[in-house]
Amino acid sequence: MQLTYNNKDYDIIVEKKRGNRNTYIRVKKDLCIHITTNYFTPMFSIEKLINDNYKQICNMIDSQEIKQKNNNGFFYLGKQYIVIYTDIKKVEFQNDKVYVPQDFEPDKWYKKQAKDLFLEHFEDKYNNFTKHIPHPSLRIRKMTSRWGVCNTRSHVITLNLELIKRDTKYLDYVIVHEMSHLIHGDHSRSFWNLVEENMPDYKKYRDEMKEF
Ligand SMILES: [Zn+2]
Repeated sequence: MQLTYNNKDYDIIVEKKRGNRNTYIRVKKDLCIHITTNYFTPMFSIEKLINDNYKQICNMIDSQEIKQKNNNGFFYLGKQYIVIYTDIKKVEFQNDKVYVPQDFEPDKWYKKQAKDLFLEHFEDKYNNFTKHIPHPSLRIRKMTSRWGVCNTRSHVITLNLELIKRDTKYLDYVIVHEMSHLIHGDHSRSFWNLVEENMPDYKKYRDEMKEF
């Protein structure tokens, strides 16, 4: 199945799962229309659903395409760079340009930088934390929907690799947020008070992160 919009054909992928109560339509990064629905939904009602929601689906395609255009730049610590491929073996920054080898893999490179940088900020925040907390261990992973996760039982804090693209103040905020979860598992008043104690202007960063 396909949907035609602006003279382009977009694939429709139907995923039927037994446990799904509702039907969802999403346009994902691959620019395909993903329909998740119940195992027993007949094809004709999926077709009807697509026709009924044609306009909304086109809007979803538009916003996914805009999102991808904006994400194509190379970001590092809050600055955007133009990527230039060269024959040199290492990565070099010069003003608004970054010179990279032909086989440059951004995520691999980001991960390497993040390992030291995140740990440095992590230890710093831990050492200056206003309350006694167990020493958490740090994991770094690329995540699509969260900046950080705290496992309050195993004391593992996972930070999103994507934070390397932003100014380090956001990294610090996420670290403080997740460390505060080691005392308060919820987002209660006392939780936010603890965050504030460790980062007085946290509200600003938290709100700015919502814009990303
Ligand atoms: Zn939280």
